[in-house]
Amino acid sequence: MTSLYCPVDILAFGAHPDDVELSCAGTLLHAHALGQRTAVVDCTRGEMASRGTAEERDAESAAASTLLGLTARRNLDLGDGRLMDTQEFRDAVAAEIRRFQPRLILCPAPGDRHPDHDAAGRLVQAAAFYARMKTRVLRDAETGEPLAAHSPGLVLVYPMHELERPSLVIDISPYWPQKMEIVRTYRSQFLNPMPDDYTFIGTRDYLHAIEARGMFYGNMIQTAYGEPFVARSPLRIADLLNDLAGGKAGL
Ligand SMILES: [Zn+2]
Repeated sequence: MTSLYCPVDILAFGAHPDDVELSCAGTLLHAHALGQRTAVVDCTRGEMASRGTAEERDAESAAASTLLGLTARRNLDLGDGRLMDTQEFRDAVAAEIRRFQPRLILCPAPGDRHPDHDAAGRLVQAAAFYARMKTRVLRDAETGEPLAAHSPGLVLVYPMHELERPSLVIDISPYWPQKMEIVRTYRSQFLNPMPDDYTFIGTRDYLHAIEARGMFYGNMIQTAYGEPFVARSPLRIADLLNDLAGGKAGL
């Protein structure tokens, strides 16, 4: 093992530096509280956003990483607004999967209305295949060292703008205040005044929308707040009673 590697339990990908916080902050806080190692890889620096410079967003992202208790965070800087599902980008993402050797990967759900979110979801799902192929040589971009193949145990996608029926919902009720504190770390995105003609992200209502979404998914599992995930393949369960029946699912 060399310093090329940084093994973690959970690796969460986002297209932009606030995607993971908006969608998975409670899940990552819960994992951290359980002693699990977590990391985030952002595909772009969000430099094409309506507000906030790339430098501001780097600083916000660093502050959020500390509050999340991440082991590491990296940014691939693949170009905000230009993220595409290409071979070159698939390899860049697959190299990160090999670097972090996660047991579980989280990524945006393909099909989101934002093209970068859609592309990030497709890239990560394809990269998870490439990461495990021993015949596929992937090198660290800085050193040129080859990275050993790694097979993640599971990839879950997280819905963003689109509503999807989740395969599972994580109860994040105890972490809700922390999640919103972390979201507010992105001051350039959520707390700056907006032009009168701008009516979506950045308005006060957007923070309310985040709360409403958390309550909507929490209600599905009869709890205050939840974060949804979708499995693209059936989940393998070892113990039906202990793994599922404690959650009151479907009652
Ligand atoms: Zn985004």
